[in-house]
Amino acid sequence: MNDCIFCKIVQGLIPSAKIYEDDDFLAFLDIRPANHGHVLIIPKVHAERVTDLPESILSRELVLAARIAAAVLAATGMTDFNLFNTNGAASGQEVFHHHLHVIPRKAGDGMKLSIDPQTYREGEMAEIAGAIRRRLDLREPGES
Ligand code: 5GP
Ligand code: ZN
Repeated sequence: MNDCIFCKIVQGLIPSAKIYEDDDFLAFLDIRPANHGHVLIIPKVHAERVTDLPESILSRELVLAARIAAAVLAATGMTDFNLFNTNGAASGQEVFHHHLHVIPRKAGDGMKLSIDPQTYREGEMAEIAGAIRRRLDLREPGES
């Protein structure tokens, strides 16, 4: 895609500190890291959200993420990590080319994942769980 920063990184038009590359994926250091060693993993194909990707790519991405996370911890001496992903502006997505964040963590590193927990009224959990279950489509994209 023309004006996508991550597509430009894939094409080599913008430099990046590369961690890994194959035909379908690229991993590189985030330019504004939450902690040193913060990696972004992207599919080379432009897709905005995790839900826009073929499952063949998605499943391999998670395998790659686990391997990269292990390497990040070994290289940085950090003990733990967050694996996360944003989908849409309201979720904090700033670059609209799907990416997974691998963020190395250690106790007291100061990074906050701020969640303000809500509550369910009586019966609401069953209602919402049912509504989601009814809409869960386990077919592969393109399958009928
Ligand atoms: P998002 O908020 O969309 O989940 O995360 C986008 C991430 O991309 C941010 O953490 C930001 O620091 C990173 N980023 C944005 N532009 C560039 C860039 O040109 N190069 C690199 N390496 N990372 C970038
Ligand atoms: Zn792109």
